[in-house]
Amino acid sequence: MRSSRFINDIKDNRVVTELLRHRRVYLFEYFSAADTMVVYDQALNVQRTIERYVASVCAQGCVLPEDRWQLRELLTGQMHGPLELREIKEGKLLYLEADALPVQDIREGQVFVGYAKDVTPEKERERSLLRQAQHDPLTQLYNRRMAKTLIARYLEEKDPYASCGLLVIDVDFFKNVNDRYGHLFGDKVLREFARLLNTLFKREDVLARIGGDEFLVFMKDAGHSVVLKKARQLSEAVRKLVFEENDYCMTCSIGVCFLPENVSGYSYEQLFQNADWALYQAKENGRNQYAFCDNLHRYAEGENTEIKTEDIDARYLHNDLISTAFELFEKTNSFEAAISLFLKIVGIRLQLDRITIINTDIKEHRTSRQFQWTSPRAPAALEQQSGFTKEDFLTLFQSYDEYGTTVLQYDNMDMYSPGGAALLMQGGAKTVVYAAMYSEGEYLGAIAYVVCGSKRFWTQQSRKELGEITKIINAYLTKHLAANAINRGMMAAPDFDRLTGLLSFSRFREEIEHKIVGGYAGGHIIVYSDFENFKYFNEKYGYAVGDQVLKEFSDYLVSNVHAVGDIYMTRVVGDQFAVYVPYRGPEDSVLFVDRVNQVFQRRQAEKYPEASLRLRSGIYEIEPDCLSASAAIDKANFARKQLRPDTRRAVLRYDRQMEARQTLTNELTNGLSRAIERGEFKLYLQPKFSLKDFSVIGAEALVRWERENGTVLYPDQFIPILENTGRVVALDLYMFEQVAEFLKRGIQDGLRLYPIAVNASVALAKNPENARRYDEILRRHRISAELLEIELTETAAVFEFDRVKKLFACFREKKMQTSLDDFGAGYSVLNSVVDIPINTVKLDRGFIARCTENQRGIYFLQQVVNMVKSLGYQVICEGIETREQVDIMRAVGCDSAQGFWFSKAIPAEEFREKYMR
Ligand code: C2E
Ligand code: MG
Ligand code: MG
Repeated sequence: MRSSRFINDIKDNRVVTELLRHRRVYLFEYFSAADTMVVYDQALNVQRTIERYVASVCAQGCVLPEDRWQLRELLTGQMHGPLELREIKEGKLLYLEADALPVQDIREGQVFVGYAKDVTPEKERERSLLRQAQHDPLTQLYNRRMAKTLIARYLEEKDPYASCGLLVIDVDFFKNVNDRYGHLFGDKVLREFARLLNTLFKREDVLARIGGDEFLVFMKDAGHSVVLKKARQLSEAVRKLVFEENDYCMTCSIGVCFLPENVSGYSYEQLFQNADWALYQAKENGRNQYAFCDNLHRYAEGENTEIKTEDIDARYLHNDLISTAFELFEKTNSFEAAISLFLKIVGIRLQLDRITIINTDIKEHRTSRQFQWTSPRAPAALEQQSGFTKEDFLTLFQSYDEYGTTVLQYDNMDMYSPGGAALLMQGGAKTVVYAAMYSEGEYLGAIAYVVCGSKRFWTQQSRKELGEITKIINAYLTKHLAANAINRGMMAAPDFDRLTGLLSFSRFREEIEHKIVGGYAGGHIIVYSDFENFKYFNEKYGYAVGDQVLKEFSDYLVSNVHAVGDIYMTRVVGDQFAVYVPYRGPEDSVLFVDRVNQVFQRRQAEKYPEASLRLRSGIYEIEPDCLSASAAIDKANFARKQLRPDTRRAVLRYDRQMEARQTLTNELTNGLSRAIERGEFKLYLQPKFSLKDFSVIGAEALVRWERENGTVLYPDQFIPILENTGRVVALDLYMFEQVAEFLKRGIQDGLRLYPIAVNASVALAKNPENARRYDEILRRHRISAELLEIELTETAAVFEFDRVKKLFACFREKKMQTSLDDFGAGYSVLNSVVDIPINTVKLDRGFIARCTENQRGIYFLQQVVNMVKSLGYQVICEGIETREQVDIMRAVGCDSAQGFWFSKAIPAEEFREKYMR
């Protein structure tokens, strides 16, 4: 193929050939009629001639398949260049820029003359620049801007059914790492951390370093449990990173915001602020943990109300600060917006680095931040580990001048403890003016006006001004807080539990309500669990460890409770959890829950061998007649509460029998006072007899509940319920009063009197006041205390030993008789008899029944009676039902007896007629 006129014209032009060589440009000609491509070298000699170019080569060739169509369009005149083409040559990807112009050749018809230029080096440079612009050079993670772009794009295009999570992460005390081990090591730590992120998270997730030691992870299309699990895994995995050259142990704090499905309209900023809020909580709670944003609305509306602080009205930068304060607080409808703008104005005007409004709880020795403004140049102020002593409070308190301010200089902090000084001057402060805030005479906290660069001396005039500004802020702050407290009831309830990330209880209840009302809840169970004695665990290991266990439990639930269908989990409050889960397992649901609990307990036992953490669960299998979520949850909880602390059983299912009990419980909780007022609780007396001559020596008062509907309930049916709800004291006092009245009438009528024993429950011991109330009843009826005796069960004495001891001491002081009931029923701790001030020991009916069965038992009984008597107590036996028992008890030396063989409990009036006349 001959060259076209065009090539021939320039062929010998040196300038042209030099240029082509320099610029790595190749020329080509394409003859369309012949479908032939001629490629020239840089000296414009024919290098290659390719026939059937468009027909075949364009379809194969070395140009990447996805770029070939462009080339075809160019060579058929349907498209104009320049184009970008990629080709593979010797295994390397090259970038070409190509263009062609049609020229008319008289002989050959249409000819395209064009060039191709190797632009690979430019392309690579461009790409590396782009990469640099998008990535953090140290860790190679995305930078903040790129992360924001990617997340914003995802949120915009997100499938409405997809959920996602944002984690904002901060390396704890990273400043100390740099200070102590050097920046080189610091860099290594950050790189290692980035590597960890890369291994933990999916490729699609957005990983970014957004500040010195701040990172961000955005999990696309991730469910709630996955986000929860990852937050935990990260928190744990970080702790396991080892740095051989130093004994540095890395931890991080994580704030998590989860965006559930079917929620739209959230921007990157809102998610970020939510997660950042959670991060702040995690740090406040002691770092090395994750916290969840509990309420998506926290920053949902923020955008509209927030004033664009970038363009501060020029007036505010010149007017005097006091009138600016009034104007802002009065005119801005959002307090948050007003305060943040005002702090900023003050900061700029007075050239401060930071202003912090600090809330102080003197009693708890705690301070917390309410608001803060920071200048862009101020160092971070969270790197603070030390604390405040009571003396520090007092020193600060006493140093306030007449304007309520005090100036602290960093090099003159000797009056404060090292921890206190560090806290007061935190964040690299050189000079801080603290201005006190009071409300109705009570110290609420202070505002710290901080200067970091170098020391500053404050004139009296400017201190006065700061004092006044503080008063204005304080006044509006107090008003705002009060208004908030009123509105709180109307504010949206949180969606997630901050500590565990599980659903908030209100959301949980809503979800279950939908299921129940919609009729989908059949075949599901609600499990309500709590930890036994978690309070003691907290006291022993500290609240941080306690929180950790609660988090581990929620994580354990999330990862281990599998089922097809809906599962909802919540932390109801404190250490109580509720789970809604479909259950059609092969085994009993009690066994299932017990097994789940056991595994967790075993794991915890390895970590805290001394704690023996135990879970207790109630189960309710949702029935068709269950009408509301609250009822279902209550039933599961009721079943849990039926577990007595002294049994080994740890899981109980709600059943029909419990239902009757729950009804009674509800009735008693709401209607006890009414039943008392109506006189439904009746006094019965069971006589006590001397075993020497079978004469009556006294009686025990026993209560019977004669209900409106005619049924009579025995104490065992309702006393335990009243004990659980703590209301039993009211009944005990009422019965005592009945007895006192009964005796008083006896005195008035000149009848024969016997001492009467009244049962008391352990709840009485909780309040030392109660002994006084008993005494008051006696005095009101002018009854001699010796006529009355208080019986308290041995179980009570064992469980509440110290309190019971004190209570009995009070009774004795008032000259009342005391006795230990049900001795031998199962909890005998002999020292309780040795130590507690009592007159009489009552041997339990069951204990006697067991002992009187054989000779060894009788011998044992005899030893017990001897021992008790030799300690100086009287011994009475209860529940004597046979003549044989009477004889045995006499033989072993028991003084007196009570039981059906003698008489059962009879109405008080009957007792009066029979024994007192
Ligand atoms: P307790 O104080 O050990 O009272 C003795 C219980 O044994 C009474 O049952 C009595 O009726 C029963 N009992 C007496 N002799 C015999 C017998 O020979 N055989 C048998 N099987 N039982 C006999 P009750 O009245 O049902 O009282 C049960 C428990 O309820 C009492 O045990 C006491 O702990 C408690 N209780 C009764 N009244 C009150 C009260 O006013 N306040 C409080 N806090 N508890 C009370
Ligand atoms: Mg008794
Ligand atoms: Mg008893």
